[in-house]
Amino acid sequence: MIVKILGAESLGVRGLSCLVELNDRKTFIDPGIALGWSRHGFLPHPFQIAVGKNVKKKIIEELKDASDVIISHFDGDHCPLSNPNPYQLGIREVKNSLSHCRIWSKGPDNCPPTQQRRREELAESINRDLQNAEGLKEGPLEFSFPVPHGQQGKEENSVMMTRIEENGETFVHASDIQLLDAKTIEKILAWQPHIVLASGPPLYHYSSSSFQMQRENAWENAMKLSQNVETLILDHHVLRSEEGIAWLEELKHTAQNKVFCAADFMGRTPVFLEAWRKDLYKCLPVPQSWHEDYQQEKVDVNDYRIRGWKFLMDSGKIKPCKWYYSCPIKEYTDEGKLERYWIENYCFVNDKNCIRYHMEEQCKYHPDNMLPNGEIKEDLH
Ligand code: SF4
Repeated sequence: MIVKILGAESLGVRGLSCLVELNDRKTFIDPGIALGWSRHGFLPHPFQIAVGKNVKKKIIEELKDASDVIISHFDGDHCPLSNPNPYQLGIREVKNSLSHCRIWSKGPDNCPPTQQRRREELAESINRDLQNAEGLKEGPLEFSFPVPHGQQGKEENSVMMTRIEENGETFVHASDIQLLDAKTIEKILAWQPHIVLASGPPLYHYSSSSFQMQRENAWENAMKLSQNVETLILDHHVLRSEEGIAWLEELKHTAQNKVFCAADFMGRTPVFLEAWRKDLYKCLPVPQSWHEDYQQEKVDVNDYRIRGWKFLMDSGKIKPCKWYYSCPIKEYTDEGKLERYWIENYCFVNDKNCIRYHMEEQCKYHPDNMLPNGEIKEDLH
């Protein structure tokens, strides 16, 4: 079983989209993305929009040959939409991919009218009935009955969790549970998972002391999960603020087992772009009309993309790969012989999946024209 997380707050966007590759299935959970329409009075920064475009492209690409698509619920950052905002995933972008795979979705009950409508729109657009997967079990897949989207007593807004088991390894995806409901945690533990990917508490909403109980619940439940699960990945709501980032760091140091954010799990440096939105606006100001111009395709994100990565490195928010300044990949990019995709997706985020990195560490020969994914680019010299 290979778990790959494509979109989450530590990867620069809102969502909890992930792939689980099995022997004969490619399962995609929650193919959706959002950027947080407004935080601290700011729309998404153009740099975050650039990163979001990249994540969206990967989601679209990976969906093409998915055998099973699972939708935990119909919030706009978890599913394709018929009327997406410019930063979300539109149904029209993935319509073909969704026409031939198995779709397992949360049922229409126990969710707000907006989500019911989105579910109907998706079914209508792809001209298929969406199977209500709640409580079902099929092969390596198992789905929970609805659990609260947050704390108990909010059953009218619920989500569906997924358990996937293959060759003695079990993965659980628990989107938007926010670690607030003890029964949901018990359900996850009863599934005996080795890896759990879940949403942490939305600390950015807990501005007053009246939320003390939620804070304590979430911490207690996080500790309980981490004591009983080998690898706990917490991301999403919790990583939308500096306070949440610190909360997760404390949990990592307190827990006995491995606790990660999605970026840690994927072997790369986190980029908490929603939590850093104010800093981005301060250091890379954006003209008032920029978002309107962007929607009308009068401006693009390229300049902000380049300056955004530079800002993150100059400010110490991220550190590039230790080989970066002597790596031929940097040199080729600086000379304009190679697209920036490689440095932005590998070097700047210190991606430990880089084949060059491993060969460098093991002092093994590798040609200068070998790309981070191991491919030899013959015309590069
Ligand atoms: S290509 Fe690989 S080894 Fe070279 S700087 Fe980038 S991440 Fe490091």
